[in-house]
Amino acid sequence: MCWHAERGFIYAPTNWSLMSDDGAFTYNGGKVSPGERQNIRYGISETYLGDPIRIPVTIINGERPGPTAFLSAAAHGDELNGIEVVREVAHEWDLTDLAGTLVCLPVLNVPGFLAQQRYLPIYDRDLNRSFPGREGSTSAKRMAHRIYTNFIEPCDFGLDFHTSTRGRTNMLHVRADMTDIDVHRLALAFGTNVILDTDGSDGTLRGEATNAGIPTITIEMGEAHRFQRQLIDEALAGVESVFAEYELLEQHTVRWPGWRTIITGDRQKTWIRADVGGIVDMHHDRGALVHEGDVICTITNPFKNDNITVTAPFTGLMVGILENPVVYPGNPLCHLVELGGRTKRVVELEQSPATADAT
Ligand SMILES: [Zn+2]
Repeated sequence: MCWHAERGFIYAPTNWSLMSDDGAFTYNGGKVSPGERQNIRYGISETYLGDPIRIPVTIINGERPGPTAFLSAAAHGDELNGIEVVREVAHEWDLTDLAGTLVCLPVLNVPGFLAQQRYLPIYDRDLNRSFPGREGSTSAKRMAHRIYTNFIEPCDFGLDFHTSTRGRTNMLHVRADMTDIDVHRLALAFGTNVILDTDGSDGTLRGEATNAGIPTITIEMGEAHRFQRQLIDEALAGVESVFAEYELLEQHTVRWPGWRTIITGDRQKTWIRADVGGIVDMHHDRGALVHEGDVICTITNPFKNDNITVTAPFTGLMVGILENPVVYPGNPLCHLVELGGRTKRVVELEQSPATADAT
């Protein structure tokens, strides 16, 4: 079993969940034995016409014992990048030597996905504020309950894929509760440059699973309504790295992203918001380093005669930015997280024109 130490934490060997005596993964109405895979459509609710609402699930139980991991996407129905990550792992990767079990949930929020919107169309409920759910409660909580009890609870850890909200975009980063030693291990294993250390709101899949002892991280990547190939490939490399850390697939290695910053509560991070309404000219791409006082964007009126410049209040990384270039006062423009010390110098070097020319 893997021992790994960083930042003062020692990770102890883990006793993986024993799903059943014969190593089978079981859910309500089904069983997947070692060496088997199943594609199922699992009913979590019903439409107005009484037809079943079913989520696609692929369960792959390896021939060798190991941890059980879930990979989930589209808890927000219009966040598509993660769907392709989960589908490629489930259906394109060679998992012949898998040690453990994968529970692949590419589309959690089927009603939202069909409508291509973030929330469940039923009263605009947020499925990702409805976990762990409850039988006999609202429609959203009943759906969450079916998902959670059957496919999340039996797992040892999980990866939940999201994108930015519609109209904005994110650089690929991990959100994780880094005070939890098991989440810490998982977050580092994914191998991103940036980890936002937050404990997760009540009702999120990440927060509730973690509280229940199933370490879970969120991967934020890109924008809604798109497949962004470069980000999907980057996320797949992260999944590969996690599988190496937990020895689900032995031939891979845990990746080091070149530099890493963990944004904890005492570091500055802010959503810079527009103070005027207008049309936005963003001067940087997602992931750019800006220095204190640098112009982030310009907000113009229809006549382009009263331009407002917005500057960086501190030196940091533009983790998320506006894509749809129109704002009311109060709308977010840029999610800026502080970068300092050695990491800042490494990123400066990486983003300097000379370095870019040389590569
Ligand atoms: Zn989301």
